[in-house]
Amino acid sequence: MPPSDGAQHTRPDWVPDDAGTDFATRLVQGVPPGGVTAQSSQSPRSRRRILTTDDYAEGVLARDPTVLGRAISLIESNAPAHQEQAQQLLARLLPHTGRAHRLGITGIPGAGKSTFIESFGCHLVDQGLRVAVLAIDPSSSVHGGSILADKLRMEKLCRRTDAFIRPSPSGGSLGGVARKTREAILVCEAAGFDVVIVETVGVGQNEVAVRSMVDFFLVLMIAGAGDEMQGIKKGVIELADAIVINKADGDNRPRAIAAQAEMRRVLHYLHRTAEGWETPALLASALTGEGVPEVWGMTGDFFKTVRASGALDARRRAQAVEWMHALIAERLRARFYASTAVSSRLAAMEHAVADGRITVMAAALDLLGDSTVAG
Ligand code: GDP
Repeated sequence: MPPSDGAQHTRPDWVPDDAGTDFATRLVQGVPPGGVTAQSSQSPRSRRRILTTDDYAEGVLARDPTVLGRAISLIESNAPAHQEQAQQLLARLLPHTGRAHRLGITGIPGAGKSTFIESFGCHLVDQGLRVAVLAIDPSSSVHGGSILADKLRMEKLCRRTDAFIRPSPSGGSLGGVARKTREAILVCEAAGFDVVIVETVGVGQNEVAVRSMVDFFLVLMIAGAGDEMQGIKKGVIELADAIVINKADGDNRPRAIAAQAEMRRVLHYLHRTAEGWETPALLASALTGEGVPEVWGMTGDFFKTVRASGALDARRRAQAVEWMHALIAERLRARFYASTAVSSRLAAMEHAVADGRITVMAAALDLLGDSTVAG
């Protein structure tokens, strides 16, 4: 009988020679690969059974968290058969998508994203909403590294039955991770989540990718971390629909208030991200929960504004078209480099270009088999 914390006592693979028969260790169950919800272990469906596309669709629409986790794993798989089934599933789910509030949250490491999302997510669940959290972090290629830490940090939210937390697919290019996350958003919407939060680490291109898949983009900042580091000079602030200065508590509160005033001055000079909406700078403490309900209230104001003006619809339509072009570019590129006509001559062309024996344009056009299209 395993103890109530899920740990089991078992004999390990290796024991010291003189250990006798009583040597035992304590194994604590890991986090399931399908993601974390409080219901995961209670799902009636078997984890191992192969699911048909109908099973996936019915399970997702029935809000079964285990099937939802497996559907996202299917999307994340690079196996061609899985990718084909994933596309069939998405086509089935498409009529049930589009109803969630899609939120993106970014900030430098240590800004308090996990803590904030936990506090914010719990607040939403308390309001009767269902919340899904997806993470984008193409840099975390080692499975279980920062991902596991994130899950542990959102422990309270994990325990809520109306919350679903899914780490970033491990490894892969930003393009690949972004596609998988976009598709995971759709699956979460079909599973009836009211709010889907995409979390990303603010380290450059990630923010742009997340901005292109959400309705509302929130940048979490802290006082005193430096403009350069927090992306102010990299234009991240220009993408923000809202700024939240986190850690506005204790001794740090006066500095946070000063940072808020400074941010308001900066925002004054920037273009609006949506008609009729002025990017606000709010204070919050993810740790104490102070200011968190106000952030949700402000999010509601944003949605009211952009729904009324048609900006939300326009943003989603533009994102879908942009996504299509990104997919075309990705496929064309893959097809190009996979062709034998290219791969057989690529190294030689690279040398010729590096040595200055041929112009870069001539080499590129030659490889493209397109010598008629000049400059
Ligand atoms: P992330 O790397 O952006 O996900 O940041 P974390 O959520 O892991 O937070 C980094 C550290 O800041 C942790 O030690 C948190 O406890 C702490 N922290 C997060 N939010 C707050 C806050 O509102 N106030 C204070 N004082 N500390 C916070």
